[in-house]
Order: sequence, then C-alpha cells, then structure tokens
Amino acid sequence: MKTFNVPVIYRSPLISAIKNQRKQEDRMKKDFTPTELDFGPIRILLARHFGFCYGVENAIEIAFKTVDENPGKRIFLLSEMIHNPHVNNDLLGRGVQFIMDTSGNQLVPWESLQHDDIVIIPAFGTTLETERQLALLGIEPLKYNTTCPFVERVWNKAEQIGKKNYTVIVHGKPKHEETRATFSHSQAGTPTVVVKDIKEAALLAEFINGQRKPDEFYDLFKGQYSPGFDAAADLQRVGVVNQTTMLATETQAIADYIRQVMMATFGLTEATVGERFADTRDTLCYATNDNQTAVTGMLLEPADLAIVVGGYNSSNTSHLVELCEEKLPTYFISSPEHILSGSAINHWDFHHKREISSNSFLPEKDRITILLTSGASCPDALVEGVIRRLLSFYGLEHKADELATID
Ligand code: SF4
Repeated sequence: MKTFNVPVIYRSPLISAIKNQRKQEDRMKKDFTPTELDFGPIRILLARHFGFCYGVENAIEIAFKTVDENPGKRIFLLSEMIHNPHVNNDLLGRGVQFIMDTSGNQLVPWESLQHDDIVIIPAFGTTLETERQLALLGIEPLKYNTTCPFVERVWNKAEQIGKKNYTVIVHGKPKHEETRATFSHSQAGTPTVVVKDIKEAALLAEFINGQRKPDEFYDLFKGQYSPGFDAAADLQRVGVVNQTTMLATETQAIADYIRQVMMATFGLTEATVGERFADTRDTLCYATNDNQTAVTGMLLEPADLAIVVGGYNSSNTSHLVELCEEKLPTYFISSPEHILSGSAINHWDFHHKREISSNSFLPEKDRITILLTSGASCPDALVEGVIRRLLSFYGLEHKADELATID
C-alpha cells in the first residue's frame, strides 16, 4: 500500500517497530492475535491492527502539504478533517479554519469566502450541495480533495444500485459527515433513506411489509429520506450500503434482515430475491474490518481491562469500544494525559456523551493484563504515550526504549 508523508510528531518509533515486525511475519494479514508486550507486573496486549488508515494518512499529507505550499493564503477545511482533536488542533494552530462543525452547522459564513481561498474537502467527502456552493463562490470544489477512495467506493455502489432502480438504504449515523455525503450522492440518482441501527431497520421493515401505513413514514424518518420519497412505492426494490466505519456485525445483521423481509413480503426465493434486493456486500472499508477483527482476536485472550485511544467523536473508534465493552471494563481515552495516576482515569462514556472519572482502574494484582488499541484516526504517538504512562506507574518506562530498537 502507498506510503504517505505524515508529520513525524504523529509517528512512534516503538509502534512502527512492532507493526513492521508483525507485517514481516504475516504479510497476508491472516493472523489477528495481539502482540504481547510483557513487562513483568504489567502485560500489554496490543491489537494486530490499529491506528492511521490509508484515508487518514492521505488526508493528512494533502492538508499539511497544502498549508506548506500556500503561505499567506487563507486555507479552510469544510469541517474537521478527521475525527482526531490532536490533528485538527495542529491544523488550526497553523491557521487553517473550519467552515462547519461536525454536525454541519456553519462556523464561517459562505459569503465571507473569496474565489482565491483554498478549501480542503475532508476524508469523509462532502455533499453535492456543498460542492455547488463552492462553485458558486468561484472556488474549484475538488481542487483540494482528501475524500477517501473507500468512501467514494460507497458512492459508486449506491450509484450502481440506483441505476438498476433500487432504492438505497444507507446504514450510517444520520448526522455523520460521511453519511451526509453518501446520502447526498445517492439521492442524486435514486430514492434514499438512512437507518442508524437495527431498530430503525426493523421500523423501516414495517413499511416494506405493510404493517405500518406509508404516511407514518415521514415523521418517523424525518431528516433521513430524500426529497419526494414515496414510502408506498419506493420500498419495493432496495439495496443496502453503509458508512465505512460501522460495526461489521450490525451492518451484516441489517442487510440480512432486510433481505429476509423482502423475501417474506414478496414471496421470493433464493433464486429470485435479486429481483427486489440488490446483491451488495457490505461497504465497510479495509481499516474498519481489520481493526474490528483485530479487537475480536485480542478479546480471545484473558485480560483485566481494555484501553481504546481515539477522538471521542470518532465512529470507528466507538465501535472498537463497543466490542471491548462486551467483555471487559473498557476505558475510552483521547490521550495519555487522561490516565491521571495508577488509580485514576478520565474517560469517555460514548453512550451518554460525557467524560467520566473512574478510580482503581488498574486492579491490585501482582500481574495485570491490559488490551490496547486505537481508532483509524489516532496517531501512533498517542498509543506509545499510553504505554509509557502505564509503565511509569511501575518504574518501567525505560523498557519502552528497549522495545523501540527491535527490528
Ligand atoms: S476509516 Fe476507512 S473510509 Fe475512513 S478514511 Fe480510513 S480507510 Fe477511508
């Protein structure tokens, strides 16, 4: 895979050494067991895959290069480039401004932009409406485009389904930038509706099988369907695509469920289901699959707790947390500084969207095992920071330097 020029502050010699060693031993990426870092009283099991993905490195390279090559110019990002506060703050520190917040609220009015301003499209991509808005202002919309190719692949899939007259069901978070962009691109070609989880998929199914009257649809799915959507006519032929960072098991469950509903409602068989249900595989990206499978592999090991590092508004990171929480006490932190001491930690409760404090998070045992991973927008330097911080509570920080020299 292509390598990118990412600022060295985001890299970690220690993590790079570990990742390179694993890569050499397992070039086909078949081994999802974690890497064991045994420091005696503390044992860290590091997920096989974690950290910056292709799309994030690509976006970082383009954004920082654009800043370097355009001194004196006003540079804007449509919204947060990726969901990591460290990277976003570094860009803000270099004078870049965000036009919208992550929910699409305007921070910089369109009227204040000028034709010679630079506007960078983030890794999530953007809506066709925003592209048109930029063009109206005389700004070439795709000149500084960091949209991840794996997101564009979802748009292409939606377009293909739409051309065959299937309505597109997008499994995604309705307010997430990527889902808003996918919705916009999909609805340009075919009726489109967003479902955020299996519960909403079940609700949608009640309109497919006629349990609910079509006119109830518009309130229940307010803000999640394309203009002119006809709940009676537009749910006769459907296909499912998804936000690239959803939970793989949930996406699969939704697609399987809707397929079953179509078969039962329209009396279809395995041979004829394609008449009304587009045959799509999920549109999760490789990084989501690798990172979630690596967490599943890591969770097979007995451990005392899990730590997941990443931005609190990062979708892919929250799904790693969700997987870990099923089995272990799990602490979702955005940086090593959130580990206050060997007993206290401030961490994010993503279910209730608030930071909470826990005491005695490290159990009092002669030897503890911690599972550690991070999201696709988290710099490896932060994961190294967490390892060093944990080691410092045992007077073992020097062990991290020894590890960094493995090759
Ligand atoms: S998580 Fe996947 S889709 Fe998103 S930027 Fe990374 S590679 Fe691209």
